[in-house]
Amino acid sequence: MDFSNDKLERLRALIEGAPQNVVIASHTNPDGDAIGSSLAWATVLRRRGHNVTCVVPNRYPAFLEWLPGINDLKINKLHASEVAGAVAAADSIYCLDFNQIHRLDGIGELIEKNEHATKILIDHHLDPPHDYDIELSDPTCSSTCFLAYRLIENLVGLQEIDLPMAEQLYVGIMTDTGNFSHSNLSAELFRAVATLVERGLDIPRVNRLIYNSFSADRLRLMGYALSKMETLGEDPNRVAYMTLTEAELRRFNFRLGDSEGFVNYPLSIRDMAISAMFIQTRNFIRISLRSRPDVDVSEFARRYFDGGGHKNAAGGKSFDKMSETIERFKKAIGEFFNPPTKPA
Ligand code: 5GP
Ligand code: MN
Repeated sequence: MDFSNDKLERLRALIEGAPQNVVIASHTNPDGDAIGSSLAWATVLRRRGHNVTCVVPNRYPAFLEWLPGINDLKINKLHASEVAGAVAAADSIYCLDFNQIHRLDGIGELIEKNEHATKILIDHHLDPPHDYDIELSDPTCSSTCFLAYRLIENLVGLQEIDLPMAEQLYVGIMTDTGNFSHSNLSAELFRAVATLVERGLDIPRVNRLIYNSFSADRLRLMGYALSKMETLGEDPNRVAYMTLTEAELRRFNFRLGDSEGFVNYPLSIRDMAISAMFIQTRNFIRISLRSRPDVDVSEFARRYFDGGGHKNAAGGKSFDKMSETIERFKKAIGEFFNPPTKPA
């Protein structure tokens, strides 16, 4: 744990201190790591007498519905007045698994309006802004759930973790590491997983619930998207991209979360440097990016598509039409791999 003692002690004082109204907020299109870490952290705080509300901007994917405690989440799109009330009344606001308040859609403005609350960041994304009162940011940590595990170990002890909490934490650890296939797979991480198994965690069951619970339509949509994949560029900087329009999504009865993971498949092509997925939503095109270890797509997302994320898994958005977005993407890729040389 590389955090200063001062930071940890301030967090401990908040947790162990007088009961507070607390909000735990996580990002738009919440994933397993966002939800798992929020629910586990909520339990830690509730057991110490705090009144906790977990909030997210919009719905979570169906494959997370079985997670213990998930029905307690307040979704801003569905429960706007409860979310606004909880944020306004909060003495402390924990921001988990994101660091840019603007990634919270409507909740971001509510948080900014509450000027008296202590704001705490617990996150693993790159380049945290330094506007939190307590900042626990570790971009080398593979998931916010693993970061939460380490905070639990340091601040309250591992006896805190029971089976529901083990499942919540494991879901984030598993999904954010691509089922233990990306970087930052430390021995410490596997020791943490061993502790979760000691609590009764059934890994094959969780695997089945997360990865083998999709609809037939979802698999057909994936086959369709992959069959339309285009490739660009030359070795060693090959790039693949896929697009899905709203009409195409409708054709396959698209449900939230259905496109999760599609973007990873083109990286299974030899020497592929970047895989991109463009999905049209009502207001803009959502861009998902993945890359092989030596290529930094968070930099690419920041520079060209108003986004960010991690070195090898990032995202952004475009408010242009699909065809224009793709043209812009192709130009950006050309420039990214062959930056114009400054005139002498
Ligand atoms: P995904 O492709 O799974 O939606 O996102 C991959 C990663 O990129 C996630 O860790 C997410 O936080 C980050 N990301 C996705 N979209 C955006 C965005 O619009 N802005 C920023 N800053 N990060 C994003
Ligand atoms: Mn995460």
